[in-house]
Amino acid sequence: MNPTNHPSLADVVSCLSDYDPDAVPVAQAQRIIRDFVAPVKAIEKVSLRAALDRVLATDVISPINVPAHDNSAMDGYAVRSTDLSAEGSVTLRVVGTGYAGRSATQPVGAGECLRIMTGAAMPAGCDTVVPQEFTRDATSEKVTIPAGVVQRGDNRRFAGEDLEVGKPALHQGKILRPADIGLLASLGIAEVPVRRRLRVAFFSTGDELRSVGEPLEAGCVYDSNRYTLYGMLKRLGCDIVDMGVVKDDPQTLEQSFRTACESADAIITSGGVSVGEADYTRQTMSRLGDVTFWKIGMRPGRPMAFGQIRSGGHAAYIFGLPGNPVAVMVTFYFFAREALLQMMGAKVPPLPLTRVVSQSAIRKKPGRTEYQRGILSVDTNGQQSVQITGSQGSGILRSMTEANCMVVLHHEQGSVNAGDLVDVLLFEGLI
Ligand code: AMP
Ligand code: MG
Repeated sequence: MNPTNHPSLADVVSCLSDYDPDAVPVAQAQRIIRDFVAPVKAIEKVSLRAALDRVLATDVISPINVPAHDNSAMDGYAVRSTDLSAEGSVTLRVVGTGYAGRSATQPVGAGECLRIMTGAAMPAGCDTVVPQEFTRDATSEKVTIPAGVVQRGDNRRFAGEDLEVGKPALHQGKILRPADIGLLASLGIAEVPVRRRLRVAFFSTGDELRSVGEPLEAGCVYDSNRYTLYGMLKRLGCDIVDMGVVKDDPQTLEQSFRTACESADAIITSGGVSVGEADYTRQTMSRLGDVTFWKIGMRPGRPMAFGQIRSGGHAAYIFGLPGNPVAVMVTFYFFAREALLQMMGAKVPPLPLTRVVSQSAIRKKPGRTEYQRGILSVDTNGQQSVQITGSQGSGILRSMTEANCMVVLHHEQGSVNAGDLVDVLLFEGLI
């Protein structure tokens, strides 16, 4: 990434009147991050299937009409609506049959109709299709249409009603989902311009950490953050550089930050950003770039570092997440996720919150945002409600595996009574 022409964090925060790094509301931190990061520029062409989950790099203009011609939405009879009567049934002469995939040749005159199959081109002169089940006494020569079974224009699909030639079919920034690659296929498009994948390097810091496979000595814990980060980054579609556990030693840390910076667009670390942390993570980050250390008004996940570091002519955005396993996930989802999507060039709507009844009271102080882990359930009457998982400690990763949603208690909000409505964010969606 080109390290020039970039606003400094000081530039970004200079327009905020009430900025205090020791008391940053969630929304303010999100805004600073949004104003600071820029998307990767490079574009590559990939085949349609490989484009799934990638970020569309340019608008796609429809090269054709879909459907290409007016056609029937039903099996039945293509008629001229002027031949139908509101008072009584009419009998029309059948001039032939129209099949899907064959061009319409048969002209249809007054008093005539065409037997037609779903998807077959509408014959000239006809504007309406009478579904076969509404007709009577059909033979290969004639058919009777009772009064009032259709209105003019029924069961006719128009050329270009799905996609119109020359109009944008998809906009750049869209993350391509199954429907989108299907839609591109309907346009006959075989290759898609997408942004290059974002490369994200990550490592864990802390002398107490052991990697899976190593013996666990007294006072040590296994490094779980690298696995949750792996999962979250993979789900987001990033290329990842897993740099392992980095010991709390100034030279090793500096070398790790430099290697990460030279090989990735963004760096995510966990641990070592707490206040009074007796380690070198903070010092090293500040020495290598423009990094700020926040105390965010949130729970879990108060301490977080954010900025950009430079090494060997490269620059990389950096997220120094706290060490506690739940705090890592929460800060990733509510800060890093959106920033990474922005770097990927993706345009995504804000995360959708759903309001549901809280089964029990939740204690909460105004002046910070809380992300409690919840289980949303549906009772036999179809009524949804949420119950927070037991312990909400920021080290209790079990609370994340048991939960199916996050209960979002907003900055100004106070305690919740049983039966109150709360905002929840579901972990899983349909697609
Ligand atoms: P820190 O933010 O470095 O003060 O870490 C806070 C807590 O999170 C400490 O109890 C650490 O042992 C724990 N922790 C830090 N990094 C990890 C990790 N990678 N995996 C599991 N626990 C961690
Ligand atoms: Mg630590």
